[in-house]
Amino acid sequence: MASIHIADRCLCCGGEQLSAFPAVLMPFVAHRALGWQPVRIAEDWQMAHLQTGIAYSVCNTLYCRDCHFVFLDMRFDGEAMANLYRDYRGDEYVALRDHYEPGYAQRNAGLLDGMGYVDKVEDFIGGVAPGIATVLDYGGDTGINSPFRHRAEVFVYDISGCEVVDGARRLSRDELRRGAYDLIVLSNVLEHDPDPERLLREVCRYMDGGTHLYLEVPAEQLFMRFGEGWTPRGTSIIGTSTSTFSPGRRCSACWRGAAWRR
Ligand SMILES: [Zn+2]
Repeated sequence: MASIHIADRCLCCGGEQLSAFPAVLMPFVAHRALGWQPVRIAEDWQMAHLQTGIAYSVCNTLYCRDCHFVFLDMRFDGEAMANLYRDYRGDEYVALRDHYEPGYAQRNAGLLDGMGYVDKVEDFIGGVAPGIATVLDYGGDTGINSPFRHRAEVFVYDISGCEVVDGARRLSRDELRRGAYDLIVLSNVLEHDPDPERLLREVCRYMDGGTHLYLEVPAEQLFMRFGEGWTPRGTSIIGTSTSTFSPGRRCSACWRGAAWRR
């Protein structure tokens, strides 16, 4: 059965100086990952001390006062993650998410075509690491957004199990090899993982001295205002992300904590 761990220290720096802000777990995530559905507390429940209305799963947004990292206190285990990302953006996933987040199906149709800036990513990587011939897109879903898909050998590892697009090849975890890739891509993955430090250590295991790592996380404007008179209210996550990184010290704190301790 899927389960959760409640974080009591910072996922990035290990600090214990955390501020907690009450929130609710997005109902799509609660339902798909954990099987928890909202309930309507009705008059006929005859609960003497509860108000009627819809009850969602409560959680906390945590803020590390040491390194400024912001994250959901609920950390999913492997089974919950498998539930959440199985057949990612497939029919069943989309139908359930559209039920809780009307309009998602339409948004998803656009997402399936790709993120639209792969050429910019390739230009950036090519500028510092020319001659990329082998790529591992870790958490790359179908490979639709994998850089260099049309001119390099591209492998995808992802827990979604989705079919990969032409030009990419899916690898199982057992097939991942140290030093077999000129480039490892970790794009829009770190913020979804229950333990980003562990994930960075895992990815580093497949690198050697000649491997480049491309790391990309969303720049969530909303959360960047944290500490400037704004604090999170309501939901603690955006989409299915359970952490929010911003450029600079939050991400680098995580990186310093994990990558070079391998
Ligand atoms: Zn911290």
